[in-house]
Amino acid sequence: MFFVDRMLGRLARKLRLLGFDTLYLAQASEEQILQLCKQSNRTLITRDRALHMRALKNGLSSHLIRSDNWKEQLVELSSRFDLSNTERLKRCSLCNAQLIPISIDEIRHRVPLYVQNTQSEFFVCPVCDRIYWAGSHVQHAIEEFRRLGI
Ligand SMILES: [Zn+2]
Repeated sequence: MFFVDRMLGRLARKLRLLGFDTLYLAQASEEQILQLCKQSNRTLITRDRALHMRALKNGLSSHLIRSDNWKEQLVELSSRFDLSNTERLKRCSLCNAQLIPISIDEIRHRVPLYVQNTQSEFFVCPVCDRIYWAGSHVQHAIEEFRRLGI
């Protein structure tokens, strides 16, 4: 779906929390970025006007971000892309992998008691092993998205 350019790491994590397949590489050459976008049919999200223009000249989908604030960046993106109808809590915000539902019995020792008592659905990232549940920071992010109208 998206390839998020460097300096936009925070935006990348938020897009993943919204459920979007979002590739982010802190270090990649312009050639690598354009090649990756082409190969995996991703929209480039960048603050670099020259790279943006180059992507468009190459027939790629690209979006130039103006704000340096992640909230405003999300609002900018939502004016062009529908960010509302996604599957939240489905993707790891750190590594972009799709989360796998997991039984509380398998992770009980890793989850605080009050969470065990108040949450019924848990997910694990198959790559970094991070555990997610609806009451974690994900819920906080979703509330922020709501305030932003997303
Ligand atoms: Zn992960």
